[in-house]
Amino acid sequence: MMSLSKLPHTGTTIFSVMSALANEVGAINLSQGFPDYDCAPQLIDLVTQAMKDGHNQYAPMPGLLPLREQIAYKTEKLHGAVYNPDTEITITAGGTQAIFTAICAAIHPNDEVIVFEPAYDCYAPAIKLMGGTVKSMELEPPDYRINWEMVKRLISNRTRMIILNSPHNPTSTILHEEDIKELEALVKNRDILILSDEVYEHLIFDGQTHHSMARYPELQQRSFIVSSFGKLFHTTGWKLGYCLAPAAMTAEFRKIHQYMVFSVNTPMQVAIAQYLKNEESYLGLAELFQQKRDYFRKGLAQTRFELLPCSGSYFQSVQYNGISDEKDTDFAMRITKEFGVASIPVSAFYSKGTDHHVLRFCFAKKQETLDKAVERLIKL
Ligand code: PMP
Ligand code: GLN
Repeated sequence: MMSLSKLPHTGTTIFSVMSALANEVGAINLSQGFPDYDCAPQLIDLVTQAMKDGHNQYAPMPGLLPLREQIAYKTEKLHGAVYNPDTEITITAGGTQAIFTAICAAIHPNDEVIVFEPAYDCYAPAIKLMGGTVKSMELEPPDYRINWEMVKRLISNRTRMIILNSPHNPTSTILHEEDIKELEALVKNRDILILSDEVYEHLIFDGQTHHSMARYPELQQRSFIVSSFGKLFHTTGWKLGYCLAPAAMTAEFRKIHQYMVFSVNTPMQVAIAQYLKNEESYLGLAELFQQKRDYFRKGLAQTRFELLPCSGSYFQSVQYNGISDEKDTDFAMRITKEFGVASIPVSAFYSKGTDHHVLRFCFAKKQETLDKAVERLIKL
């Protein structure tokens, strides 16, 4: 039979694998990143009301205008960047669809895309499906800093895009002012686009700044910026996000978006447009998650794990060299089954499976869940 696969080397995403194992063995699931507590009751009331008010048919293709207006307001207020809701903001089915659509819109066969690894796992398959080539650069623990001299060496006349992700999943690092300067110098006078995955934009700790691409004109004019309401409002199951991009790029983005999903669910867009008016709904997130980070780190300090730094996102990574020399995939499976705590082995985010003996735990959980997990991990 003819070979069907366009992605012969791609398996099932590690998030499904580890969550399925956690469910099967009844482990505490700190693997896939999602909260185990509910979103604000007011948000649920707003969705219910929107449904009762009859907002149950197709939204406009780019998303509901009041929601796009709220996003424009928030982006200008936080980053000083003006995006036109009509032509530069598109509501998507989560960050995932925005990322896929942007790659689909921009990448032609034989284009090269620079990806920093460990990398969130949806980037590479989309690039490959478009006939592009992933030029990956491996970053290393403990600080996973980008070596911009090495990035320069990866640039060729076929480089079409650089993918950035700050705050970063899975390493919890962020881009700093120096990185932005290097990036600006690198892309200046070159025809290179940026896909900036900023889904953890509000989960940033210790008073540090989120350096959105929206803040820097040289970068903004060539960037697709992706955000997710799943992260913002503890509603990962609603699958709502958006993409900001200059008008010419958004026009190409929407050519794909209109045939990929046309538009995304209406009542939640109505609700979020109203809920966003209260700025406290997202400005308090950093404090909430910083408390959870500190609480979880304090707990983990009682285990034999070595904690890696965590500047943003809702993940804490640890190294386990002092505990075992097993492969991270084997170790993650074993502690799920034997100790009842599921995590993500970080080698899953390296195309070559590079294993630094690092596991990622999600701390977007109730205090009692974190307590139980630590209690079990102490036994390791
Ligand atoms: N990018 C990163 C770095 C993520 O961690 C995630 C998952 N939350 C996404 C994109 C996808 O976001 P969404 O769940 O809104 O599709
Ligand atoms: N973003 C989430 C994580 O990193 C998972 C999303 C998914 O399951 N696709 O854990």
